[in-house]
Amino acid sequence: MLAVATALAVAATGIGPLAPQPVQAQSAPRGLPIIRDTEIEQLMRDYAAPILRAAKLAQQNVKVVVVNDRAFNAFVMDGRHIFINAGALFDARTPNEIIGIFAHETGHLAGGHLSRLREQMATAQTASILAMLAGVGAMVAGARSGSGAGDIGAAAIMAPQAAIQRTLLAYVRTQEDQADHAGVKLLNATGQSPRGMVELFKRLSNEVMFNSRYIDPYMQTHPMPAERVAVLEAQGKASPHWDRKDPAELQLRHDMMRAKLAGFLERPDSVARRYPAADQSLPARYARAIVTYRHSDLRRAIAQIDALIQEQPGNPFFKELKGQALLEGGQPAEAIGPLRQAVSQTRGAPLIQIMLAQALIATGNNKFADEAVEMLQVALRREPEAPQAYAQLAMAYGRKGDLGNADLAAGQAAFMRGDINTARQLGARAKTRFPVGSPAWVRADDLVNLKPPTRPNR
Ligand SMILES: [Zn+2]
Repeated sequence: MLAVATALAVAATGIGPLAPQPVQAQSAPRGLPIIRDTEIEQLMRDYAAPILRAAKLAQQNVKVVVVNDRAFNAFVMDGRHIFINAGALFDARTPNEIIGIFAHETGHLAGGHLSRLREQMATAQTASILAMLAGVGAMVAGARSGSGAGDIGAAAIMAPQAAIQRTLLAYVRTQEDQADHAGVKLLNATGQSPRGMVELFKRLSNEVMFNSRYIDPYMQTHPMPAERVAVLEAQGKASPHWDRKDPAELQLRHDMMRAKLAGFLERPDSVARRYPAADQSLPARYARAIVTYRHSDLRRAIAQIDALIQEQPGNPFFKELKGQALLEGGQPAEAIGPLRQAVSQTRGAPLIQIMLAQALIATGNNKFADEAVEMLQVALRREPEAPQAYAQLAMAYGRKGDLGNADLAAGQAAFMRGDINTARQLGARAKTRFPVGSPAWVRADDLVNLKPPTRPNR
């Protein structure tokens, strides 16, 4: 499953789903589209974990969050998340390049660099560039009219902006140099090559030089002048691990991730260009199987997925894909088998458990209701911000005829979606179905007492 959620989930991290605090975007702009997928998230964890351990940040439970955005970007905004755009994952040819980005971003985390400030600096830069352009326009207009008034206007705009920009740029530059240096050290400490980071940054800085009409957001928060890249390259090449390659198994997982992103996010013709029919590699067939299931007939997709399963019987994500294709193709009973295997092979990945529960419920067979409830409760313990899990839980309770818990779960689902009014109404109704003061009654009461969210001021 690859699902796009919104940053509400991220923003709510650490807040119990029923805690009566208003949900506020503290770690990500509200509405930031997040990609949720077990296979990709496991890979991101495997990329980041050694780096975070080496930086002594393992205790902080830093999570990598994949943002559904095609622009190249990666950023940290608090001490607990590293955000990376799908665009950066698409662009990176090797695991080492992404690991290099994580090493650099972890350098910012370990250095305590204030990311919000960095963001504001990026904005200030943009504002000053706009002001400069306006100033140039005014100068041209002034010169044409011969009045000279344009010069005064431009100077008034430009002088303070330029001074601010110089200060901010110097500050950002210092942090960038520190993060580069820390990144190389972290890669060395984990026996990995700094080469991916060096080559990626070189590529990005060349892009800026040769393609100035479009600049990736990464370049706005990470200015990459030639001398910075040169210093980084010298540091990198001094590493004893410079020539070390990623393990073949990791490279395959990386290629499979890119294939999956392409299959789910790109149009069929783009996927066909990226993976022409002659390409019979596993990633190419993975991307095509996903496109087939999303855009044409289920029978052909299942045949393609079955061929993948035959080749890698131990890969849970092919079974997850088969289950998803069957479930979305209106065959929930057939989806149960492959999804059960995927759950067991991932040792209970919560996102797959949620899909399996959905299949159990979608059969319409009440004999599955108890199992679905239990499974969703287990999944929600590890994924407490999954609105679709609460919606499924509400349905499963409905099947059992447990209307109080059905209302409570539906209210929680509404809360997770940010629909506070519905959450309060359902909480009020649920309250009437439980003994006063019982744990369920207290949770319903929490819903009733929710406050409308305050608008984020950005
Ligand atoms: Zn940086």
